Amino acid sequence: MKIGVLSLQGDVREHIKSLSDCGVDAQAVNTKKQIDAISALVIPGGESTTIAKLARSFDLFALISDRIKSGMPTYGSCAGMILLSDVVNDAIEGQETFGGIDMVVRRNAFGRQVDSFETDIKFKGITEPAIRAVFIRAPWVESVGANVEVLSEISDASGVKHPVAVRSGHLLATSFHPELTGDNRVHKYFVEVICRELASFK
Ligand code: GLN
Repeated sequence: MKIGVLSLQGDVREHIKSLSDCGVDAQAVNTKKQIDAISALVIPGGESTTIAKLARSFDLFALISDRIKSGMPTYGSCAGMILLSDVVNDAIEGQETFGGIDMVVRRNAFGRQVDSFETDIKFKGITEPAIRAVFIRAPWVESVGANVEVLSEISDASGVKHPVAVRSGHLLATSFHPELTGDNRVHKYFVEVICRELASFK
């Protein structure tokens, strides 16, 4: 099983390490040939507008978007979540996403870089102990379509709950960065629960 980590910008190495720790063959991908050869994809944290622009520049945008929409298991963390979302609030003008998950996310929802924080969260499908979630200028999910399952949510300063992890069939997205904590249970969930259960997965 070969899983690619989209290597245009962002914390690629950390995702490769987390996936390797789960026992899968993970490699950085940034060419059409490499993307054609993978069975699943991870879109790292970083900066969503930069990743989208680079995907356009390298002529990878349509390929990635098509593969995501035609069933390739894909996990996006933070900027990766934004890139998997069909609609983005607080986007820069003309910002594009690969799309695939029927949801609206808000970029930079928790505030500026200095408002980054860590907290313990519950994650449906992953048992105790709680997951230490690192939020770095993170998005949150504002609304989801009928086929999107919320796996985790946290409350904002006013006590309003916002989803921070969602699954839509073969697609997984988290606002936070499990690749930064050394706890690989979210990656394991992606590999064991999402990738392996799909009949099409080779
Ligand atoms: N704020 C970033 C964006 O809009 C995401 C931050 C992150 O990935 N840590 O893409």
